Parts: sequence; structure tokens; C-alpha cells
Amino acid sequence: MNVIEIKSITKYYKNIKALDGVSFSLEEGNILSLIGPNGSGKTTLTKIISGFSKANSGEIKIFGKNLDEFKKIKNKIGLVPQENNLDQDINVLENLIIHSELCGLNTKVAKERSLNLLQKFGLDKYVHEDTRNLSGGTKRKMMLIRALLTNPKLLILDEPTIGLDPAIRRQFWNIVIDLKSQNVSTIFTTHYMEEANFMADEIAFINRGKLILSGKPQDLIKNVLENFVFEMKEKVSIDGYKSYVYENKTFIFTPNKEILLSNLKLKGIEPSTIRETTLDDMFLYLTGEKI
Ligand code: ADP
Repeated sequence: MNVIEIKSITKYYKNIKALDGVSFSLEEGNILSLIGPNGSGKTTLTKIISGFSKANSGEIKIFGKNLDEFKKIKNKIGLVPQENNLDQDINVLENLIIHSELCGLNTKVAKERSLNLLQKFGLDKYVHEDTRNLSGGTKRKMMLIRALLTNPKLLILDEPTIGLDPAIRRQFWNIVIDLKSQNVSTIFTTHYMEEANFMADEIAFINRGKLILSGKPQDLIKNVLENFVFEMKEKVSIDGYKSYVYENKTFIFTPNKEILLSNLKLKGIEPSTIRETTLDDMFLYLTGEKI
């Protein structure tokens, strides 16, 4: 079953086209990473999927429902927005209880769930702490806890680990992997390519409001480029190979290092680096832009 099905959605902010005919689906229990540079439309897409913004055209189904039936599915969706929007003036438990009540939980259940989640995430020592005193990483975890209060079946995370140190990032992702084992589906935006590669069942590249390619991380390179890339410090043109030039450097892709090496030698060209192709190469090859 598909948890999300989106067809040709378009979104304008006055005359800015933030999304331009985006289509994709997310299968239940899968993790999808949306990758693109700043301004490519990632946040806009997460806002639309989580019901905080409306597309101008296109079709959106979440858990098989149109967004005009959003109330029926609201509590099945947990959103962690990019900006910290916790109430800084109240304590941790109060923040979580108020949110739960807004989602329709009664106070007793809200308190029970909040305390359970705080304990599970190792934050029980902060129950009565003023929210403003927490570290950035702890606030981020608290936003994830807040998103989990309704036991959602779909998590939407907008740049969830930006600015976090590697240890907290790992903890954060372990929680998402644990939720996946309970069949919770996740969509997250990032511009950390290695994070997407490691976490996602599926990756979707977005650039200038258009979804340019999607697939399983291990298939993307295989389907579009070759396994190895040669970097040259100058502009080089060589027929029969996929290549691109970026900032006066040439990147040539090949499945066979030896053959390309001898072809280059014949032309008197020496590569500066030979390495495996990465998803960053893919993005640059497809868009001419860096993430
Ligand atoms: P990303 O999350 O990939 O950085 P966004 O979805 O935030 O991209 O932005 C996509 C485009 O829409 C950008 O050109 C951005 O400037 C524009 N945009 C986003 N939000 C607004 C808004 N509230 N009003 C006007 N323009 C916006």
C-alpha cells in the first residue's frame, strides 16, 4: 500500500513556482529521502503533505485520502518542521501535554505518553526543565517526541539533523530505524548525501521545484552513470563517455578504469583522481549544480 501518492503538484508563491509538476509515491514502511539544494522546494513539499499548505494544482492522497479529509488522517502524521517551534517559556512536559491535547488526547493519556517517550529517548531527567535551557540536539529530539505523541504511521522530517553533532545524529536515525521496524513510513529532507544513502530505501532528487530522478540509492548510480569517475584538472573532451565539466574540471565516468586510463594516456592526459562515483556526482551530472 502507498502511504503517499502525489501526482503533478504545482505550488506558486505569487509568481515564484516553488513546485513544478512533482509526482511520487511512498510505500508503507519505507523511508524516502528528498534531496536538493536550498530553495529547491523541499520544505514546501513537506508542508503540503502535512496539511500546512495547499498546492495550486495536482492530486495528493495520504493514506488513500484527499487532503480535504485531512482531519481523518491528521493524527496519523507526525511532523518535525525545520524551525524549532517549541514553546520556550514552558517546561518540557508542559510542551508535550499541550501539543497532545491539541491533537485530541486527554490529559491523562497525554501525560503517560509524554513520560514514556521522554524515558525511551533518555530525556526523562529534563521533564520539568524549562525548554529554553535545553541544548539544540535535545530540542530536536523533543520535537521528534512531540511528533510521535499520536503514534503516527507517517513521519515527515524537514532537515531533522541539521546542525546536530554526529553522535546525536546517529541516535536520531536509530529512532527512525526502530520506527520503521514498526512499519512507520518516513519522508525526510536533507542535503547530507551520505545520510540519505545510509538511511533511505528510496531517494528523490529535487531541483528548482522539479523532481528530477528517484529510485533506490544502490540503483541510481547504476542506472544513470558508471561505477568509476576520473577527475581531470582541465577541460578535456573524449568521445563515447558520459562526462561533465564543473569549475573547469572534467569528470568522466567509466565501468572500466583500465580502458579509460589507456585511452587518456594515448592523448597524453593524466587524471588527478580516480574514485568511485557518488550520489553527489549524480546530482551535479543531472543538474549542473551542487547540493
Ligand atoms: P527548500 O526547502 O528546498 O530550501 P523551499 O520550499 O523553502 O525550498 O522554497 C522553494 C522556493 O519557494 C524558494 O524559491 C523560496 O524562496 C520560495 N518560498 C518558500 N516559501 C515561501 C513563502 N512563504 N513566500 C514566498 N516564497 C517562498
